[in-house]
Amino acid sequence: MTSSNQQPIPAARPVIGEEEIEAAVRVLRSGRVVQGPEVAAFEEGFSELVEGRHCVAVNSGTSALHLLLLALGIGPGDEVIVPSFSFAASANAVRLVGADVVFADIEPGSYGLDPAAVEAAITPRTAAIMPVHLYGHPAAMDKIMPIAAKHKLAVVEDACQAHAAALNGTPVGAFGAGGTFSFYPTKNMHSLEGGMISTGDAETARTLRLLRNQGMEQRYANEIVGANMRMTDVAAAVGRVQLSKLGGWTEQRIANAGYLTEHITAPNVQTPTVAEGARHIYHQYTIRITGDRDAAMAKLTEAGIGNAVYYPTPIHRLKPYWEPDQKAGRNWDLPETERAAAEVVSLPVHPSLAAEDLERIVAAVNDLGENL
Ligand SMILES: *Cc1c(COP(=O)(O)O)cnc(C)c1O
Repeated sequence: MTSSNQQPIPAARPVIGEEEIEAAVRVLRSGRVVQGPEVAAFEEGFSELVEGRHCVAVNSGTSALHLLLLALGIGPGDEVIVPSFSFAASANAVRLVGADVVFADIEPGSYGLDPAAVEAAITPRTAAIMPVHLYGHPAAMDKIMPIAAKHKLAVVEDACQAHAAALNGTPVGAFGAGGTFSFYPTKNMHSLEGGMISTGDAETARTLRLLRNQGMEQRYANEIVGANMRMTDVAAAVGRVQLSKLGGWTEQRIANAGYLTEHITAPNVQTPTVAEGARHIYHQYTIRITGDRDAAMAKLTEAGIGNAVYYPTPIHRLKPYWEPDQKAGRNWDLPETERAAAEVVSLPVHPSLAAEDLERIVAAVNDLGENL
């Protein structure tokens, strides 16, 4: 039994340490706070995670997706294939550029797009495929990239949860026409708020730099219509400190996940699987519970174990997607998405967990019993 008079273990624990604070203060005192040398240095540092691809920093992961779709010329009349089992931002970016979302089902193990479902969803209007590397597990890029090549489609990787994840040695964000990362506080590294786009194409990188800054390279010599999605130098300075720690944190997440998977033995609980050749960086450690999930979550909470469902409602069932689809008589057949949404629960796996925290998590999960 776990005693409930211990401190609860939070599901996530964003780090804002002395180094982050000092970096932010240093930039504030410098007076140079908007997209300047810190942003350039952050972009250069981050590019090491994506095989030296061009990196363009913006103010959020959602902005990163939005601008990447714009830079690739995706807009009205185009369709983009997206998993419904993701955070709404993935599909929202497609709708924000005026393109249509086509949902495809996921693989039950990786939670990423099912390549066969992707191929079946392709129409003459398809412009791009957006694999999401959910929970930090890479999508099946080894199968999705050849499908995209065969049909001449752009691949936009939503790597917002997957900093430094990889498949067969290639890091996410280095497969497609471009990849996007989020630096929201609960992600594996943060910049307070922020995002990064990686691309192998210099022309796309230049377009992205224009788009984030009103279409200007030279001040007041606007070349295209753009937005203001700049990152501040304060955010970049915090991001650089976090980037320097990401490697160690990621190793700790992988070790924590290894401990949980080894020791969780409860029936009706399925621990995460890792595809062959995949480097899962455990943004989330997500189990499946067959049985009464609500009761299981209540018991975990009672035992002081943070837990959460990402995501209880698949995107196609959210109002801005569901209502137009109902009007148009469009029904998506997404059985694995529906099943995952009903069964998943994420447990704490963050690098601040102590050995006794891990023991408490295991004890609470193994206490759930057979009759859920
Ligand atoms: C967090 C996240 C985003 C959006 O990133 P923000 O920085 O919050 O805008 C997009 N896609 C996925 C899968 C995410 O988890």
